[in-house]
Amino acid sequence: MYPKCKTYNRKKIILIFICCFLAVCILTGRLVKLMVFESEYYQELADDLHERERSIKAARGKIIDASGTVLATNRTVCTISVVHSQIKEPEKVIEVLSRELELDEETVRKRVEKYSSIERIKTNVEKEIGDRVRAYQLEGVKIDEDFKRYYPYGSLASKVLGFTGSDNQGIIGLEVVYDEYLQGINGTILTQTDARGVEIADAGEERVEPVAGSDLYISLDYNIQLYAQQAALKALEQKQATYVSILVMNPQNGEIYACVNVPEFDLNDPFTLNMDVDTSGLTEQQKQDLLNQMWRNQSINDTYEPGSTFKTITAAAALEKGVVSLDDTFSCPGFRMVEDRRIRCHKAGGHGAETFVQGICNSCKPYPIK
Ligand SMILES: [Zn+2]
Repeated sequence: MYPKCKTYNRKKIILIFICCFLAVCILTGRLVKLMVFESEYYQELADDLHERERSIKAARGKIIDASGTVLATNRTVCTISVVHSQIKEPEKVIEVLSRELELDEETVRKRVEKYSSIERIKTNVEKEIGDRVRAYQLEGVKIDEDFKRYYPYGSLASKVLGFTGSDNQGIIGLEVVYDEYLQGINGTILTQTDARGVEIADAGEERVEPVAGSDLYISLDYNIQLYAQQAALKALEQKQATYVSILVMNPQNGEIYACVNVPEFDLNDPFTLNMDVDTSGLTEQQKQDLLNQMWRNQSINDTYEPGSTFKTITAAAALEKGVVSLDDTFSCPGFRMVEDRRIRCHKAGGHGAETFVQGICNSCKPYPIK
């Protein structure tokens, strides 16, 4: 029996050894997985907990007209956030923030009580309100100043300038075309905290300063634009038109002095429709379509036949080549066929007999076509 027992013991030892070996292998494998392959993921989670990052918005470049008038600039606004672990009087914080920021108490409570390193309560808060909240000196409430786009002349040249979204990005017009120059680079404030979320005094704040965007100088002239806008509004009313566009251009070099498309919209409130439409029954897509229609710059997006403006060129060419004389007569029947198109004169029934000069005075269509 003795040798057999010895074999039995050895078997047992080998079995235990194999078990231990496997356990060590599994643990090592797990450790390698955590430390090598997933280290980045866990590092990020830890950083999220230990580092508190707040961004400093870069000042967006101004848009300035030909005479130095600022057409688009920035206003200082505040972003208000709470740091859960630093709040000492949660009830007071909830009460003050919901009252001052005109927010629902439940919404504020949810954010204040959420266990996160930093929670944003409201952005684009007027500076006076931000200053008022700061005056309470509540622990755990952070007030950061940043910028909001501001258009001093409201709706002037709205479809040319365009506006920006909540992240300071251009949405239409020059704001989007020159976005990369205007935008600038946002900065950050990085604060190190311990596991409980308390800021480590020695670690200090790491600050990356923002870089302001470049200013944009355009050929548009504030005074000419304003004058053209008044003329367009007058025509809009007189003709009961849907829209009126005026483009003032320097013929020598193509510089645009004014580009008006009335009705314009308020650049400081671009998501409110400027038309009388009941939007209650509309889908999101239909509302978006109406906004797109309101933002549309007709001067550059729509085509329109040169029409009467081109008659002067036709008439000058005909006179210069001696094809017509001032006293030549013509009879306008009210329309003229060109290929398969029947082009009507603006006077139904026609102008009848008229001389070349009268034809031009009447702005008659069939005459220059002939
Ligand atoms: Zn005619």
